[in-house]
Amino acid sequence: MEIGFLELLLLIFCFSIFPARGQASDNLGVLGAHPRWNVLENYQETITHDDFVRLIQNVYCTHGIGADLLAIDENSARILTNREANTFFTLRFAHNQASSKRVPRLWRTAKSLAPLIEEKPLSELRVALDPGHLGGKWSKMEERWFQVGESPPVTEGDLTLHVAHLLAPRLRKLGAKVLFVRNSAQPRTLKRPADFKELAKKILIKNGVPEPRQDVLDPSDPEKEQTIRWQSEILFYRYSEIRRRAVFVNTKLHPDLVICLHFNAEPWGDPKDPMLVDKNHLHLLVNGSYLQPELELDDERFEMVRKLLSRAYDEELPLADTIAGAMAKETQLPPYEYTTETVTKIGSTGYVYARNLLATRLYRCPVVYCEPYVMNSKDVFARIQAGDYDSTRNVNGVERKSIFREYADSVVDGLAEYYRAARQ
Ligand SMILES: [Zn+2]
Repeated sequence: MEIGFLELLLLIFCFSIFPARGQASDNLGVLGAHPRWNVLENYQETITHDDFVRLIQNVYCTHGIGADLLAIDENSARILTNREANTFFTLRFAHNQASSKRVPRLWRTAKSLAPLIEEKPLSELRVALDPGHLGGKWSKMEERWFQVGESPPVTEGDLTLHVAHLLAPRLRKLGAKVLFVRNSAQPRTLKRPADFKELAKKILIKNGVPEPRQDVLDPSDPEKEQTIRWQSEILFYRYSEIRRRAVFVNTKLHPDLVICLHFNAEPWGDPKDPMLVDKNHLHLLVNGSYLQPELELDDERFEMVRKLLSRAYDEELPLADTIAGAMAKETQLPPYEYTTETVTKIGSTGYVYARNLLATRLYRCPVVYCEPYVMNSKDVFARIQAGDYDSTRNVNGVERKSIFREYADSVVDGLAEYYRAARQ
């Protein structure tokens, strides 16, 4: 499950909480880092005008971008760095492909790995697994928890970790070096909701709630998002946690690829009396499709340009398309169709979308974000309750693998297929 619409509003309206001293303040997103625009100097003349425009129009700024934020001419792109100071970064284009300078990056493309070893198609590959959310006691706080009657609760963060534990040995067997972004139910961030009470209050006041309430009344409280408790919790489990994971990925793990593992859901209402639905679907996400208010934020605009210039998309799209094909084949699920304008469909399978999520934006390497299965669909719920098992069993009248193995096997098949083809 991904970011909700109200959380997005929070992000959009939360400007410059911590201005840097003695200079024009940066316009930052929630817990955003001050952009280091000079890093982009390393990307001078690494991309042609045509490639840059193609990526802006078809992937990253599909909803448009103001000419004051990005102005492109024949030879260069001028990107606003700070509105108050009226400062810009100028990116010079390469004249043509042949004269393009090498793109600086720490991750390796499939093509740059050693040639294929038939039985080890993932040899040398450093792949990091990012099981979405937190597990155990945190899952209620994250609203990734529901329970039907007396059956064991469904907690997304525990399901994703279980899938990661099945994936790891399968990937190792094919030669990959497997790294875990999270390998327990516990958060990576050392902060806790109590650390964010003051900030939560400031954000609420800024968003037009002059005297925010301290606490949530109950899970169905319609104004829960306007309480200090709810805001400080989301600052902890979403913004602080994912930013911490990003630091870990970018400075410690240095993977060639991150696979984010999630289970999707449809609105379930009361978590103690959830709605079970018939809908079930699959989709995958890569970074892109920035919304105009997101591009107004200096950190997000900087991170968008850095992601574009790293050329992660050239790896992400074929990877996501191949994994999507393998997952569709194995799960037999139809593609999810978004009802919001936040995404852009890309690729050739119908299952892959570009979307600006924290993880897909901040991890500085190719990131494929998997969203199979509606946890509160009748079928998936029965399969989750059936648990993990070897071989096949009859669930809901159909002989099938455990849902966890089906998930893990399909991701492995997709990765093997992609790297096999790319390393020929
Ligand atoms: Zn999720």
